[in-house]
Amino acid sequence: VAVSVQEDIRKFQETFDGITGRFRLINRIGEGTFSTVYKAEDLEYDDHQNDWDLEEKENSKWKSPPLRNPRSNLCSLDPASEYSQQRKRPRYVAIKKIYVTSSPMRIHNELELLASLRGCDSVCPLITAFRCTDQVVAVLPYFKHTDFREYFRDMTVPDMQIYFRSLFKALAEVHNKDIIHRDIKPTNFLYEPEKRRGVLVDFGLAEWEGVEKKACLCEEHERDRRRRVTSSIAATVGPAAGYPRNDTRPSRRANRAGTRGFRAPEVLLKCTAQTTKLDIWSAGVILLTILSKRFPFFNSADDVEAMIEIATIFGTRRMKACAYFHGTQFETSIPTIGEKGFGMEKIILWSTCRSGGDDEQPLNKQEKLAVSFLEKCLELDPNKRISAEEALLHEFLRDDSD
Ligand code: ADP
Ligand code: MG
Repeated sequence: VAVSVQEDIRKFQETFDGITGRFRLINRIGEGTFSTVYKAEDLEYDDHQNDWDLEEKENSKWKSPPLRNPRSNLCSLDPASEYSQQRKRPRYVAIKKIYVTSSPMRIHNELELLASLRGCDSVCPLITAFRCTDQVVAVLPYFKHTDFREYFRDMTVPDMQIYFRSLFKALAEVHNKDIIHRDIKPTNFLYEPEKRRGVLVDFGLAEWEGVEKKACLCEEHERDRRRRVTSSIAATVGPAAGYPRNDTRPSRRANRAGTRGFRAPEVLLKCTAQTTKLDIWSAGVILLTILSKRFPFFNSADDVEAMIEIATIFGTRRMKACAYFHGTQFETSIPTIGEKGFGMEKIILWSTCRSGGDDEQPLNKQEKLAVSFLEKCLELDPNKRISAEEALLHEFLRDDSD
């Protein structure tokens, strides 16, 4: 363990009262935008009980703690709380130290959503949470996984089928509860190729689907939307060269949370009625990454650049229809964005250098099946995009042995 990490662990133990009595911090395993995650040993682990790992889980379901009131749980610093007696304790845990700069609302939201996902097989369950002054930590069972960058280039189509079957099972569970994860990407899906299973983590940006839907209904009626679109500058005077100087149109506001490169078009277009389908788009971006062997596949500095990247593939005709559907307009004068765009097969052949040279290697039958599934995930219109449930029935994911 590096000296700087040891120092960080020491500071954390010093400032978080009581943590050393319950956990032995081993290493720092993650440093994200919103948190630092440590691997630790749960010192209250009862040896008579089984290890909290996959084999055990296959036999008897993971038992998550009865989290009745996440609000009160947040303040519970009592290590001998009601859970300790009832649950099977893990030997190793992941302690997620949520940055104190996160708003209490955000932290509460993450813990509450995790609590309501209790019992979902492919979601890393919340064991408990503690607060010490302004510092909140969430305790999760430690899930062994391999860094995506170590294996994605070598994945065969059957490997992809196993990976995505696991990911879409997780998505189906989350979406069935009307929860949008909002941050689907490889670092939030802890996958272990050897075990052929993964769990979804990081509900820091997640939200209930209905909230936005309702907001949309009161915010903007279809009539208003049409009026705004038809009276827009682009619609009345045609596309301008650049941004209008005195733009009087009201700005659009919508939840844009997510990670660069994984945001769905409806998020980039600030659609207010966002649904669980935005996670399907992000999962599609993961598949595109694997098939094209390029990570990150999309690499934009901002939302406008992200739109340009998507438009380069999909072409202006489909982008305009997509924008109109979301109550806005898509205009571009960039010469490399064609009207028709390119098919996914072409994109994959180009990015893997299997096309254009002397040595043309068209996609085989298996790869074509993967592409047909990819196209269903990367469908611009969220209403036509495949759902997680439907995806599990798609030939690419269907598991006849289930
Ligand atoms: P953030 O909101 O900061 O992105 P995450 O919940 O995604 O926080 O965790 C950050 C990283 O920590 C993950 O990408 C993963 O590498 C590691 N991690 C998180 N939870 C666990 C866990 N339960 N088991 C093992 N590693 C984990
Ligand atoms: Mg994360």
